[in-house]
Amino acid sequence: MSHESELREMICRFGRSMFERGLTAGSSGNISVRLSDGDWLTTPTNSSLGCLDPARLSKLDKDGRLLSGDAPTKELPLHSALYATRKDAGAIVHLHSTHSVAVSMLPDIDPANVLPPMTAYHVMRVGRTALVPYYRPGDPAVADAIRGLAGRYSSVLLANHGPVVAGKDLEAAVYATEELEETAKLRLLLHGLNPRLLSRAQVQDLVTHFGLDDSIVNDVRGNPEESYVIPHHHSHECE
Ligand SMILES: [Zn+2]
Repeated sequence: MSHESELREMICRFGRSMFERGLTAGSSGNISVRLSDGDWLTTPTNSSLGCLDPARLSKLDKDGRLLSGDAPTKELPLHSALYATRKDAGAIVHLHSTHSVAVSMLPDIDPANVLPPMTAYHVMRVGRTALVPYYRPGDPAVADAIRGLAGRYSSVLLANHGPVVAGKDLEAAVYATEELEETAKLRLLLHGLNPRLLSRAQVQDLVTHFGLDDSIVNDVRGNPEESYVIPHHHSHECE
């Protein structure tokens, strides 16, 4: 089997797995993979991730022109914007995963770091996630907003919409998207319970041990033994 046909099978297999576990519903969600010659494969418009056909995936050249297969997802600009700023990205997954969407609507999240470090695997597979403001579906401004992050994030969360996550290959992108969703679920389970998060020293240890991007360490100042904190939203009670 050629590398491309293997990738086509993998897109369909991961798509079905995510769909069957309820990570994205109906015809929502899309997947893309960058091929070694610069062409890409992406899931077609109005297709369910639960029943993709390897032969009908959209194949595009590096400028986004359709080479073969069905018409590509209308959310292609999300993918091309993230690829443009993440030269090391080999694949991107975008879902409408429930817990991630829910977190994007909380009033007290930090747009520069949506989820604080709660588990080691979240730090290792996802790192920091940026919040991108709400835009109407199809609005080209969302791609500009992603490009505006200038490649500092491999994962972004579109407010009231869902995550867009890049990985070095398809497996890494899928696993990071799932880890983000599980962490969003934890964040909601712990909402208002003042959980003990990882400390700065614990995050620094992961960064050093696994050679991670160290920007994640700088979100907490002061005592290295201190845990990260979930910011509190101050409501205006006297209005
Ligand atoms: Zn979407």
